[in-house]
Amino acid sequence: MPLPRLVFATRNPGKVKEIAAMLDGHFEIVGLDDIGCAEEVPETTGTIEGNAIQKAEYVKAHYGVDCFADDTGLEVEALGGAPGVDTAFYAGPAKNADANMAKLLGALAGQDNRRAQFRTVIALTGRDGTRTFEGICTGAIAEERSGAEGFGYDPVFRPDGEPVTFAEMDAVRKNALSHRGRAVRAMVQELTGNG
Ligand code: IMP
Repeated sequence: MPLPRLVFATRNPGKVKEIAAMLDGHFEIVGLDDIGCAEEVPETTGTIEGNAIQKAEYVKAHYGVDCFADDTGLEVEALGGAPGVDTAFYAGPAKNADANMAKLLGALAGQDNRRAQFRTVIALTGRDGTRTFEGICTGAIAEERSGAEGFGYDPVFRPDGEPVTFAEMDAVRKNALSHRGRAVRAMVQELTGNG
């Protein structure tokens, strides 16, 4: 029996591979390129959960396939929750990680409250409508960058209970703690009955 197919609304092959391994034996996971979706999938709602739902429902409506989509934001307490839904574009449309971190460190210069959290929402469309799964990782923004692993804001984010940033951890450790790891495990648990 062929496995049921589930589309992950992403063009990042690394993300597809990671989730495919977790759902091995339960679902065949494919990305947007595999279903011929070449256009930009809209994410215009202004919220993290809204964008995840919008992306998953767009793919379901236009391609008639069950789908899930993720969206992540970095929410900094002293900045009133910013950059939040604008995390990727914080320093401009180029989505440049280095510029984003420079802007964040500048915005927090002299600020004692460095509390922050990463939040991922995954939206899953299926026969019973759309369900969402949330993963949060609380921590603090470091005074300066350290570490070379990972991507995005990893060099400046230190998760609670850890003496180092995400960029100083290996992928297995980061995945055990991270917002995306937590959201993915919640969805996998729902889909398979185990985490
Ligand atoms: P996306 O929703 O996965 O595209 O992520 C939105 C923004 O958050 C991008 O700027 C990413 O670089 C950043 N981001 C998401 N997850 C992480 C993470 O685990 N570490 C550092 N930055 C992240």
